[in-house]
Amino acid sequence: MTIRGIGLHSGEPSKVRFHPAEGPVRFWLGGLELRPLASLVVDTMRCTVLGQGHLRLMTVEHLLAALYIRGIWEGLVIEVIGPEIPILDGSAQEWLAALQGFPSRGPQLEPVKGTIRVEEGRSSVLAQPAEAFSLTVTILFPHPKIGYQQVQCPPTHLEALASARTFGFLHEVEAMRAQGLIKGAALENALVFSEQGFVNTPRMLHEPVWHKALDFLGDLYLAGRPYRGHFLAHRGSHRLHVELAKLLQT
Ligand SMILES: [Zn+2]
Repeated sequence: MTIRGIGLHSGEPSKVRFHPAEGPVRFWLGGLELRPLASLVVDTMRCTVLGQGHLRLMTVEHLLAALYIRGIWEGLVIEVIGPEIPILDGSAQEWLAALQGFPSRGPQLEPVKGTIRVEEGRSSVLAQPAEAFSLTVTILFPHPKIGYQQVQCPPTHLEALASARTFGFLHEVEAMRAQGLIKGAALENALVFSEQGFVNTPRMLHEPVWHKALDFLGDLYLAGRPYRGHFLAHRGSHRLHVELAKLLQT
């Protein structure tokens, strides 16, 4: 099966194909391999970008979140033709469906050994030892339709997060386009907020924080294996998430 779409930031068309293969999950770009590891992240400004030598692959987070949710760490090669993973509908639901045929495979859950905290301004992410995996994500946006939002998994199932879309603000669109970003953004692939309300309709009550939790999972996948512990992200960013994934590995 080939999944086609355009990149959110590049606006370029790209194709993704999944192939069963022994060994750890990895990307395959024109015959060269790229592992989804925090140590290979080269940019986290608006999306998570992997790179090695001249290779670059943008916006890996939603596909990696789907791999995290499905528990797939081994047995898969992801062939990508194009500079960016397609944004599709802005969520991970299509990735989750496409991965259905692949079995969960990977190492045992590794316990988080001590408290790891990464902070920047009023943002922070944290990992703590715990008996089972759990995740709490909160956001705070000074917008009448967002404000403070929280999601906790469990009770919310990780799978339920998959349909939450990327979100953005109409007033930011022009500024980002001027920087050459979000060339592929459209109302079909994002939840967009106007100054006071919504430009399109949300899929669920707290879609922004559910999407932040999805982004967190995608970046946590870059730790290279699943962990058992309590994870917390308050006003998280790709930069902080990836930093936490790096520290987990050490
Ligand atoms: Zn995202």
